[in-house]
Amino acid sequence: MNLIQFLNSSPVNYLAVATLEEQLQAAGFRKIDPTMPMPDVRPGDKLYFTKNDSSLYAIRLGSKPLGESGIRIICAHCDSPTFRIKPNPEILMEKGFVKLNTEIYGGAIMSTWFDRPLSLAGRVMLRTSDPLHPQTRLLHIKEPILIIPNLAIHFNRQVNDGVKLSKQKDMLPVLGIIDEELCADNLLLNEIAKNLDVAPEDILDFDLYLYDTTPACEVGLNKEFISAGRLDDLSMVHAGLQAMLGSVADNKKKNQNQEQTMVLAIFDNEETGSGTKQGAGSPFLAQVLQRLVLAQSKALGLTTNPFDDFYRMIENSFMVSADNAHAWHPNYGEKMDPTNHPVLGGGPIIKVNAAQKYASDADGAAVFSEICRRAGVPYQRFVNHSDIAGGSTLGNILTSSLPFRGVDMGNGVWGMHSIRETGSVKDQEYVIKAFTEFFWG
Ligand code: ZN
Repeated sequence: MNLIQFLNSSPVNYLAVATLEEQLQAAGFRKIDPTMPMPDVRPGDKLYFTKNDSSLYAIRLGSKPLGESGIRIICAHCDSPTFRIKPNPEILMEKGFVKLNTEIYGGAIMSTWFDRPLSLAGRVMLRTSDPLHPQTRLLHIKEPILIIPNLAIHFNRQVNDGVKLSKQKDMLPVLGIIDEELCADNLLLNEIAKNLDVAPEDILDFDLYLYDTTPACEVGLNKEFISAGRLDDLSMVHAGLQAMLGSVADNKKKNQNQEQTMVLAIFDNEETGSGTKQGAGSPFLAQVLQRLVLAQSKALGLTTNPFDDFYRMIENSFMVSADNAHAWHPNYGEKMDPTNHPVLGGGPIIKVNAAQKYASDADGAAVFSEICRRAGVPYQRFVNHSDIAGGSTLGNILTSSLPFRGVDMGNGVWGMHSIRETGSVKDQEYVIKAFTEFFWG
């Protein structure tokens, strides 16, 4: 599956995880239910866990004891800035116009959401006989059913001088026009029920978000760019998946490297600070790895203490925290650091920050740059302009529970957190090669 297909089938976090599951299952990965006892494992096993339907942890178990080999882990996130549908969302206006009440998710550039054909995706919870376990159904309405119309310039002559936008007033999407005699209540619920072919009264709740229905595409005289929503961070999720599947790994390397355990961890909620059970701040991954160390210890008949093995595993591991970076922008060169100008098409970008917003240090950067060199891939470095605060990511949040050595890196984009970001076709090829070298090299 190429990046454009991956993006189009993953409009929100839940659907991204479903896409990952499909790809992993097709490659022989088996899903482990964390509520059940950990099954017996064998070297070469391909496993994955999910949490909350919105984070995913895929593992290729090597033959070497984890305490000795550690793991090689690539982390990324599957959520992106958007708008979440509030409960009781219908607002009936005059003449039967209905709009939906929403709240913002993450740091979206709100103005980019105007005048786009939008739709809804996410998950819906359905009633079952067990109140503690409602059924989850994924929803991906592919038709555009919503739009957030701009205000005409004639009503706001200063629009091109900068506009302050209200999340509550300016950003509400219009759903349609109904017969004024009809009640607007449950309009959305009925639409969801129709899409899922269920009774509206069986819908208990939902996590639904807006997305842009315009498909991802290549742009540029030589099609050198990718224009798409959610490049941050689905481009890194896609690259991590390709590396895990060994899509571009040569067979010689694959046969050689049966020892190393590889992990792909795709977290949710990076855009809101990672502090959920499915985010990078959760102990879930550490618990999965603990269970894996115990299961491997039993399978190999190890005589070492598995608790000690777990801590040795952490010390022998290396983490690549992969999240998009800012590429030098032709219209805003002054925003960049004076001596570091990572560009689109120039290869993966290692992110460093003196205030430690990024997990990289000289050790981690040295490792990753050498991996790129061995993969035959150029690499670049990003550091903030000292007067501009910059962003943060999940690497350091994960290392508060699993203190791995590691690096923060990512491919460059323009317009991070716009409804459509711009990336580089070449960079995607480069980063897949670099990740493949990291896992299989
Ligand atoms: Zn990101």
